[in-house]
Amino acid sequence: MDNAIKVLVVEDESKLARFMELELEHEGYEVVLAEDGRTAIDKYFEEEPDIVLLDLMLPQLNGLEVCRRIRKESADVPIIMITAKGETMDKIAGLDSGADDYMTKPFVVEELFARIRAAMRRKTDKPDDNKNLLVLKNLTIDVARHIVKLDNNEIELTKREFELLVYLVKNKNIVISREQILNKVWGYDYIGETNVVDVYIRYLRTKIDDKYGVKLIHTIRGVGYFAKDED
Ligand code: CA
Repeated sequence: MDNAIKVLVVEDESKLARFMELELEHEGYEVVLAEDGRTAIDKYFEEEPDIVLLDLMLPQLNGLEVCRRIRKESADVPIIMITAKGETMDKIAGLDSGADDYMTKPFVVEELFARIRAAMRRKTDKPDDNKNLLVLKNLTIDVARHIVKLDNNEIELTKREFELLVYLVKNKNIVISREQILNKVWGYDYIGETNVVDVYIRYLRTKIDDKYGVKLIHTIRGVGYFAKDED
């Protein structure tokens, strides 16, 4: 069972939860159960499941709120929202809140297995996706695998340096203000020195521009920074 895919089943109807648990275990999955929204979030962080099956109507926090909170921490765990039949509004809200897929109750267990397999496949396929490759002149960033290369030289960056570089390169040739960078990379609730952006720009320049004798990150005095793709 060590390599089994761990499924967090969030369902307050205990009969249905038990049924899903038995069926999933029989299919070779490891199952963790939660019967309300708050427990779901606790279990998510304790157990680090590979996939979440999330009922919409739950005591304490509802499924949408649980989904949003999980998404805040983890961008790539697949979440399948489970709604009662006919709740079409909920389908849209569910996808808006960050669910990957949804299914309606009642369902047959084969459909559940098929959706889990599809969600896990999509997750595994992601790193090969070309959308995850950003290019700036001879610099390439493999976003999914967190690899930055200048020609064939791999550049080691901290998580924050990496996020800053990704943001600049995604918006290449556009001047971005310190405030925009701060909001995007450090978050709106960041409290601290505002010159943190300048400090991190300097780190990036040291590791890339200075080290390899290139000029990728440019400053517009009093305005902000940009990554330049054209000469
Ligand atoms: Ca329910």
